Amino acid sequence: MAISNPITTSIFDLFKIGPGPSSSHTIGPMKAAFDFRHRLATLPDAVQQQADTIHIHLYGSLSATGKGHGTDRAIVAGLLGWQPETVEPDALLKLLREPDVTYPVETGKMSITVGPQHVHFERVRYDSPYANTMVLKLAAGEQTLYEEEYYSIGGGFIIRKGEPEVDPTSVSVPYPYGTMNELKAQLATHKITLDELMLANEAALTGLSRSVINQKIDQILDFMHKAVRRGLRHKGTLPGTIRLSRKAPILYQQAKGMSQSSDSFLIFLNAYCLAASEENAAGGIVVTAPTSGASGVIPGLTFLAKHHFHYDKATLRSGMLAAAAVGFLVKHNASISGAEMGCMGEIGTASAMGAAFLTRCAQPTGTINTIEAAAEIGIEHHLGMTCDPIGGYVQIPCIERNAMGAIKAYNAFLLATSGAASFQKISLDAVVKVMKATGRDMSTKYKETSEAGLALSATEC
Ligand code: SF4
Repeated sequence: MAISNPITTSIFDLFKIGPGPSSSHTIGPMKAAFDFRHRLATLPDAVQQQADTIHIHLYGSLSATGKGHGTDRAIVAGLLGWQPETVEPDALLKLLREPDVTYPVETGKMSITVGPQHVHFERVRYDSPYANTMVLKLAAGEQTLYEEEYYSIGGGFIIRKGEPEVDPTSVSVPYPYGTMNELKAQLATHKITLDELMLANEAALTGLSRSVINQKIDQILDFMHKAVRRGLRHKGTLPGTIRLSRKAPILYQQAKGMSQSSDSFLIFLNAYCLAASEENAAGGIVVTAPTSGASGVIPGLTFLAKHHFHYDKATLRSGMLAAAAVGFLVKHNASISGAEMGCMGEIGTASAMGAAFLTRCAQPTGTINTIEAAAEIGIEHHLGMTCDPIGGYVQIPCIERNAMGAIKAYNAFLLATSGAASFQKISLDAVVKVMKATGRDMSTKYKETSEAGLALSATEC
């Protein structure tokens, strides 16, 4: 089957472990700065010895909400050689607390320092193909010795300007697809299950064996559930000027005291989603699913599936593969970035992935058409949802929005699994196209800039 533009993203690039609160504003910038640090060490000795600092210029949504999202800390951490998967959250939160303290960047033959005065939140418009742009400059006094431009494109993915894009047709996977229609055609032609297709493609992309892929999916679930458990324990207020109180432990105690009431199921789910989201807002370690802002939806649903529905590990893994397939399709054909799509790109995608997860877990022999229907409903009812976080913090509306996204995912699963899949009139490919067009039409004010909507009610907080 000839596929012109196949998906070549790994499951472990979609589900990434790292610190909150924002994959595009925290994980992506940290990775970009880490890459810059390594490039500096390859510069000629004379350039390295002349340098005295690094200037960091942030544009677009990174400038508008980067302070609240900790972009400045994340970039300095990357320059210090810290990485998202292994960074110590408390150490990260301490960076740049003191305005006069600078940090030594020891790489190659350089002896330079960087501090808060070197991070520039630029309010000018910058001609760039992406909403989240970073320019990093190695300097000696006023003179720029070397610079790189990076784009943070959502979910912790980055692009370096000028870097040749990998030709997707040069990456060979056994079952290539770029749309849901192509995915369904591969399944039908080869008479294989979605699990088999996803595992075979992942093995080809990463070189990992199937047993290692399964172990890594278990590890991802483990990190998600650790975030839920921490959030259920941690009380108090979240960092930032809003002084928002954590609510997950309260909901959890409430649900536990409500034995078998019809509401307790929803309150447990709310508590799990809020727990992971509050950990994200506090800068704790979470898993992008598909982003950090939306890192409460799937952890909440998988925690529920494990502890209330008692699905075994194999079933949970199958559900995660279905969720990944949906996340890939949205990322490939629209975007999972709040700065590009508004919140429909983050929570909308997470909700669609969650609906696919639930459907796959509940119907081990179910058809791809039912998974598609669940995912389509998940996205359809988030179309047009804006991103306007108060004060630039991933707190209001983000934390509750994760719980709402999970509950919509649950209902999407219920709707999709009643009646026949042929009742479904809108395809997943069609709704993803609508999402892309809606994101393009949406005013920039509603795309992670905190310049409109709910963000303007900040004075009441
Ligand atoms: S409103 Fe939605 S897209 Fe925007 S930061 Fe919050 S979770 Fe992310």
